[in-house]
Amino acid sequence: MTSPLIKIDDKHLPLSRIVWVSDVPHFCGEDDCLHEGDYEVRLDVDDSVWANRFERDRVVECLEVWYGGGAEDDGPEWT
Ligand SMILES: [Zn+2]
Repeated sequence: MTSPLIKIDDKHLPLSRIVWVSDVPHFCGEDDCLHEGDYEVRLDVDDSVWANRFERDRVVECLEVWYGGGAEDDGPEWT
């Protein structure tokens, strides 16, 4: 059985590696910050990827379906 994947930025990630997804856009005040306005998607390997708002919403939606807590009618079908 293969893990369900989701594409964020230029990476395909297994949903099972996602620990949490930010609800608000990143802001840290650093002049050279590359991710201001992006949504952090935390991975279980002490690393993160950065999603735009659309990608963030997709991640949350897919996670809800994958964990079985979301509306199953409009989620992707993996079976
Ligand atoms: Zn920053």
